[in-house]
Amino acid sequence: MTTHSFSSKRLTIIGVGLIGGSLARALRRAGVCDEIVGCGRDEVHLQKAVELGVIDRYEIDSATAVSGADVVVLAVPLRAMVTVLAEMVAGLAMDVVITDVGSAKGCVVEEARSLLGEHLSDFVPGHPIAGTEQSGVEASFAELFDHRSVILTPIEETDSDKCARIRAMWEAAGANVTEMAVLHHDEVLAATSHLPHLLAFSLVNTLASLDERKEVFDYAAGGFRDFTRIASSDPVMWRDICMENRDALLEILQHFNNDLKQLEEAVRDNDGEAVVNVFSRAKTTRDRICS
Ligand code: NAP
Repeated sequence: MTTHSFSSKRLTIIGVGLIGGSLARALRRAGVCDEIVGCGRDEVHLQKAVELGVIDRYEIDSATAVSGADVVVLAVPLRAMVTVLAEMVAGLAMDVVITDVGSAKGCVVEEARSLLGEHLSDFVPGHPIAGTEQSGVEASFAELFDHRSVILTPIEETDSDKCARIRAMWEAAGANVTEMAVLHHDEVLAATSHLPHLLAFSLVNTLASLDERKEVFDYAAGGFRDFTRIASSDPVMWRDICMENRDALLEILQHFNNDLKQLEEAVRDNDGEAVVNVFSRAKTTRDRICS
């Protein structure tokens, strides 16, 4: 395996939203791309990306967008990946490297295996562990990935030089890159990201139905805001993530439900010692990882 300092003559980003737009901005900041081509469904969004200086030009057809590109980044919602993979494959150049930013990896890898054909070895699955609750190119910013982790989940077919090239791309964008097996990635992210989002959406939904009777939101303060910020995330994107990482999510959700049930019983039984034990372990853990 050779190490790469990254440069690209033509980098195509399919899905110029928060993540795709931020990557384009970060790579521009690094001055490592001669040309960045965008692709998406809505010309108004792509025109905005050109006006903001995020991309140089755009195409609506993904096979045309990837033609002549030496790097292709798929940054569309998870459930759009399959369509994009199928549509772009005919336009790929021989020396291309392809990566994606999807929040679950098993589903994208499965689709890539069935659709990329001889380009499967050019595919380096990836996931930046960075984001906000905003969507769209207007929300993108060059610093999003600075000192943040990016997980690459190369599969056995992935060419190691191509993997090194995508690692160098993310490093040029300011990120720290690690590698993980696909299944392990999906289990870890189900626990640390997908479950918290599901709980935040669920909690606010429950309170929304109570609010009609009890004006609960009139008294919502800092704790509520801290806990529920991520419930302002895009519902469609998070539906896709929960559905596409269903097995790992259901497993951790079952674990959580069991623990919550025990906590409920401790409260019902007036068992203060059990409650404080749970709270203390949680506080110690959070203080350690978030300090
Ligand atoms: P976003 O801001 O909504 O951007 C998605 C982009 O994809 C939009 O520019 C949209 O543009 C385009 N798009 C949607 N469907 C398409 C299709 N069928 N064909 C072509 N383009 C399409 O979403 P995002 O937050 O950047 O998320 C993108 C990916 O990053 C997702 O796979 C997500 O799992 C992953 N991710 C998100 C975060 C996060 O915190 N947001 C973090 C890490 C990874 P048009 O509407 O104009 O087509």
